[in-house]
Amino acid sequence: MPALSPLLASIAQRIGAAHVLTDPADMAPYLREERGLYQGEAPAVLRPGTTEEVAFIVEACARAGVALVPQGGNTGLVGGQMPFGQMVLSLARLDRVRAVDPVDMTMTVEAGCILDKVHAAAEEAGCLFPLHIASQGSCRIGGNLSSNAGGTAVLRYGNARELVLGLEVVLADGRVWNGLKRLRKNNAGYDLKQLFLGTEGTLGVITAAVLKLFPQPAQRATAFLAVPDPAAALALLKRLRGEAGDALTTFELMSGFGVETVLKHMPGAVRPLANTYEWYVLAELSSPTRAFDLGALLEEGLAAAMEAGEVLDAVIAASEAQAANLWRLREDMSEAQKHEGGSIKHDVSVPVSRVPEFLERALPACLAALPGLRPCPFGHVGDGNIHFNLSQPEGMEKAAFIALWETFNRIVHDIVTEMDGSIAAEHGIGRLKREELAHYADPVALELMHRVKAALDPAQTLNPGKVIGVQVG
Ligand SMILES: Cc1cc2nc3c(=O)[nH]c(=O)nc-3n(C[C@H](O)[C@H](O)[C@H](O)COP(=O)(O)OP(=O)(O)OC[C@H]3O[C@@H](n4cnc5c(N)ncnc54)[C@H](O)[C@@H]3O)c2cc1C
Repeated sequence: MPALSPLLASIAQRIGAAHVLTDPADMAPYLREERGLYQGEAPAVLRPGTTEEVAFIVEACARAGVALVPQGGNTGLVGGQMPFGQMVLSLARLDRVRAVDPVDMTMTVEAGCILDKVHAAAEEAGCLFPLHIASQGSCRIGGNLSSNAGGTAVLRYGNARELVLGLEVVLADGRVWNGLKRLRKNNAGYDLKQLFLGTEGTLGVITAAVLKLFPQPAQRATAFLAVPDPAAALALLKRLRGEAGDALTTFELMSGFGVETVLKHMPGAVRPLANTYEWYVLAELSSPTRAFDLGALLEEGLAAAMEAGEVLDAVIAASEAQAANLWRLREDMSEAQKHEGGSIKHDVSVPVSRVPEFLERALPACLAALPGLRPCPFGHVGDGNIHFNLSQPEGMEKAAFIALWETFNRIVHDIVTEMDGSIAAEHGIGRLKREELAHYADPVALELMHRVKAALDPAQTLNPGKVIGVQVG
């Protein structure tokens, strides 16, 4: 084994040599990116086990002028967690649940806790932590908070940002900010935690968080529906919200092509309806009370929606197993799409009411640019967030298709921007959309972002080149 640099040697002495990885085979999982868009490069992967060890590393690296890339579960979809010559700071070993309080309805967890583990700890205390995303078996809560993750229950509970009461953060100079408050109300000065939520590891390293808990649902009702078009889906959304109020937890739109792709490629996927349709919705109601019957409420709502022409066909899950089958059709969509060759992805949002208009404009514009293209739009229509994915034409060379990514970015992002939307609804900017942000962001907003970065991390120690890039001059 080659000798470590003095910096790495001092870190190894503090956190243990076994937690300083320099062997390419040991580092490989930290340098491989989910979509294969990037190959990371790093002199070392550092795996501290406590907040104090994180602080030691950040302080030592800042003093030596060496940059760090914080990493959680490495499931991010915009390359924010990938090093390009910097060291990886993995938070994976900080994985303790420090406290769960069912009276305060809070839990204090360390950044490296896998999201599934956070769910399980909340459940053990009879509570719910409602952040649900398909990567929950491997993403970590620090990564969820740093990317302000969304998911399938935002409609009812909000994005990750809205689920946080307090944070513990290692600053870029190695000092620790202890903001682990469990308060529901706190207007004492600036809300500093917002600086670190959704800023993708560019302003500080989150080491622990106080999360909000909710009552466990006592009942759920899940339906898979065929709808004539996205406008009908929105009419149905309005109807179900009117009738079920806050109990409407999930409302996801899927294209027929996407559902057929899951049925074709994912073993065990079950066709939910006898006929095929162009558009589908997965809707779920949930409630902590048994005072009313959600199944009956959903049935009544759907009967009225069918009469109004908003729903063409429907199935309501009669068991947990059936509900799980319906959920798979939505959750396996990204995975299934990989089997159809290259995929160019956009994670965009527009005001909820304008989703149909967005699709009416973006679909023909993309098809005109490349005949044979197979669009696969799906996602959180109840939040106005569409994953506007495009599968390559059959028979086309994958590399030639992927080379068109920027062309499609311009088409889709121009439309989104004209519609007062966002080019990065929930996955963030990272490395992938840095130039897109620079192209589309309001110059005043961009300048403020650079000033915040300069104030919190003047030496560019944390995740340099991500989100806003490094300002020259
Ligand atoms: C199958 C699949 C489905 C997904 N579905 C969704 C979805 O529905 N909604 C959604 O929002 N996302 C989704 N994602 C994207 C991804 O899972 C989320 O962004 C997740 O929150 C990232 O967590 P992570 O621990 O993997 O973070 P990483 O990928 O490790 O890091 C993400 C970003 O956070 C920074 N970071 C990580 N930990 C810390 C820390 N402790 N302190 C400071 N910065 C840190 C990194 O530097 C990077 O910029 C999905 C991904 C996959 C693979």
